[in-house]
Parts: sequence; C-alpha cells; structure tokens
Amino acid sequence: MTCTTRLPKPVTDVWDWQLEGLCRGRNSAIFFHPENERGYARVARESKAKEICRSCPVLAQCRAHALRAQEPYGVWGGMGEDERRQIIAATRRRLKIA
Ligand code: SF4
Repeated sequence: MTCTTRLPKPVTDVWDWQLEGLCRGRNSAIFFHPENERGYARVARESKAKEICRSCPVLAQCRAHALRAQEPYGVWGGMGEDERRQIIAATRRRLKIA
C-alpha cells in the first residue's frame, strides 16, 4: 500500500509542474507496468517511457518528487522503480553512517 504521508500538501503550486509533463494525456500503461509483466516486455515498456521523459521539460521536478515521495510504482523523471529503490536505499545507508 502506498504511504501518502510523504506526498506534498494538496496545494496547486506544489503540483503545477505536472501540467507540463509530456506524459500528460498519454496512455498510463506506458509508465506503469501491468500485473505480471516481466523480462523483455518490461524493459521495452520502460525504455519507451524513459524516452518520453528524456525530453520532458519538468523531468527534474518529477524525479525530485518521486524520490521525495518514494513513489513505489512506475517510471517517474526518467527513472524506473528499481533505480529509485537503489537511490533511496543508498541515501538511507549514507544517512545512517553520517
Ligand atoms: S519526466 Fe516523465 S514521468 Fe515525469 S512528468 Fe515528464 S514525462 Fe511524465
């Protein structure tokens, strides 16, 4: 289950960047995997999503949001679920050491 306590407040200024996203209006199935998707199918779908993200004007905001909110699913800011998990885990390890 998604933890909503990490999400920004429901204030439009905080979410306005999403209006500029190139994924807006596109089929969300490009960015979020269907149940039981594995292997090449997943890699191909994620590559397609990341290609869209590469030219998105709000990539930085999207990526920062996804890492801050620890979005568990989908491609956000050109990053897949595993990539975000690795960064979040590395950040936690670094903070424990510091
Ligand atoms: S970076 Fe990708 S997921 Fe984020 S708003 Fe842009 S197109 Fe959508």
